[in-house]
Amino acid sequence: MNIHEYQAKELLAKFGVPVPAGHAAMSVEEAVEAAERLPGPLWVVKAQIHAGGRGKGKFKELGPDAKGGVRLAKSIDDVRDHAADMLGNTLVTIQTGAEGKQVQRLYITDGVDIEKEFYLALLVDRATGRIAIVASTEGGMDIEEVAHSSPEKIHTITIDPATGLMPHHGRAVAAALGLTGDLAKQAANVTAKLYEAFVGTDASQVEINPLAITGDNKLVVLDAKVGFDSNAMFRHKDLAELRDLSEEDPMEIEASKYDLAYIKLDGNIGCMVNGAGLAMATMDIIKLNGAEPANFLDVGGGANTEKVTAAFKIILSDPSVKGILVNIFGGIMRCDIIAEGIVAAAKEVSLGVPLVVRLEGTNVQQGKDILAMSGLPIVAADDLGDAAKKIVAQVKEFA
Ligand code: GDP
Ligand code: MG
Repeated sequence: MNIHEYQAKELLAKFGVPVPAGHAAMSVEEAVEAAERLPGPLWVVKAQIHAGGRGKGKFKELGPDAKGGVRLAKSIDDVRDHAADMLGNTLVTIQTGAEGKQVQRLYITDGVDIEKEFYLALLVDRATGRIAIVASTEGGMDIEEVAHSSPEKIHTITIDPATGLMPHHGRAVAAALGLTGDLAKQAANVTAKLYEAFVGTDASQVEINPLAITGDNKLVVLDAKVGFDSNAMFRHKDLAELRDLSEEDPMEIEASKYDLAYIKLDGNIGCMVNGAGLAMATMDIIKLNGAEPANFLDVGGGANTEKVTAAFKIILSDPSVKGILVNIFGGIMRCDIIAEGIVAAAKEVSLGVPLVVRLEGTNVQQGKDILAMSGLPIVAADDLGDAAKKIVAQVKEFA
């Protein structure tokens, strides 16, 4: 689960991380009020979308020469103009994809004069199974680009969970950023606070880009991207409230209501599978047969008819789906339950695309009988390879 920059900064400030003062705004009037509550004489008007690269982004509705989604303002009137320019318009950045994201919220912050920009992030490093700190002197730019062109400028420090963050980690970060004296102390302090915030909120990512040195030699967080481990949200009810549904895929929201693991993909074959491993294998075999899956969907081991119906409806509501492959291994999940769900869903939503079903395992015969007697145009398959071939052929034929 991701949150907006202003929410991330408010959260980090609670842990003692230095951030510039600022207020969120949903309208031009609120943006002006927010600016009036800040001292000036410099403000920053920042589009709040769940994507980075806003500064260099472009608004679809404005001309190619218009400024991006992070703008400096030298007066309240400037703030008003920038807010009016951004709100309701579509910002396209390297992270949004070509369709861009509509700006519905702004963040008005105190503008600071920047001496230097750094990159500092905390994330879960899967290779070591530890929290890793990534630090680079090349802040304010696309870190993937830095990793590609000058990987030696990216320093990674992993934290042993048995000790947690130690003073030497903070010194290592300061050294990686080339800081000495008081700035080195500030870097160690910011690192410690970010680590506390990371662990304390069950974060999966805290990315500060840039961490800036100001004109009066203070380190401040100018941009923050924070994401949490969704599996830990049950113990952070307050953080769960920060979720902005308008930033998420509507089908993924619907799936999360039913506890379905659903991820939308770019292909045209909808998949309904039980078990993440089988879902991955199903996607692989679709690709092997020259087609692309439209989604990853794991209905889980203990799904009931209601859940299967919901899953089926979600797949069918995706206009890019040109065929559906149901691949179920009935272990805990019984094949007859799946079959009932498919029939119930297909009756509620008209089934306008070919459907191939492969059932195996517990109550497989009952399941096949239910499908056969339903009168639905279902193509039965014997095994995974057969199922993939059949659905790919069907989709090609109907295309
Ligand atoms: P992003 O483009 O989505 O990563 O948004 P950022 O918040 O990182 O802002 C982009 C760039 O705008 C930063 O790298 C800074 O160079 C600049 N910027 C952001 N805040 C300030 C500020 O308070 N003062 C100045 N002078 N520049 C800022
Ligand atoms: Mg940034």
